[in-house]
Amino acid sequence: CGITAISANKEALPFLLQGLEKLEYRGYDSAGITTIEGNHLFTKKAKGRLQNLKDLLKDENVLGHVGIGHTRWATHGIPSNLNSHPHTNNDETISLVHNGIIENYRELKEILILQGYQFHSETDSEVVVHMMDYYYKKEKNLQKALERVITRIEGSYALCIVSTIEPDKVFIAKKDSPLVIGKTADASVAASDIPAILDYTKDVYFLEDYEIAILNKGNVSFFDQYGNPIEKEITTIPYDN
Ligand code: GLU
Repeated sequence: CGITAISANKEALPFLLQGLEKLEYRGYDSAGITTIEGNHLFTKKAKGRLQNLKDLLKDENVLGHVGIGHTRWATHGIPSNLNSHPHTNNDETISLVHNGIIENYRELKEILILQGYQFHSETDSEVVVHMMDYYYKKEKNLQKALERVITRIEGSYALCIVSTIEPDKVFIAKKDSPLVIGKTADASVAASDIPAILDYTKDVYFLEDYEIAILNKGNVSFFDQYGNPIEKEITTIPYDN
């Protein structure tokens, strides 16, 4: 599948959609986006090709500056509107896109259901957003919650997470699924593959397994899985458009 994410000082939607267009080759049985609009999440998703999502958004005024996008290649749960990403926690304060497969999702889902979480999809991915909620309520800190989530999930993942709790930021983690991060003076972006961000910037970072990245407008910070800050080298892609 394809993932896009942005934290900027301008509207997020154009980048999210243009990036997804470049990633549609990775899978396209459904598409969806979330942006942060003031203090709530704005989510739209549609079964089928990206064009269906674009048609849905045509008459919407999507103003958020921070957001995430996804084109799905279903592995768990049929292609449908409900199984499309992004997935949202029950309070509708956290939204997430996922590329990959959470191998131990059944066991995690059972535990979360016993804790009172309600599931709306058949995907493996949805466990991750409820677990973010669970650990956020313990830790009162989204980054710490993500660190704890990645100790619990097995399998492959590129995750991009937005929340009304910290509305300027995108929280990112990965293992065995690709993710590249780009940066300009006033925006930071992430995507599954370089072509999705090249029109935007040629300065990129490659996230390694178990690293965490936080996009915050023109700043990107990187951490190891224990929350220690790490320095990463920027790579300038030698491309002419
Ligand atoms: N396993 C997830 C799902 O089926 C993500 C698939 C993907 O990478 O598009 O929804």
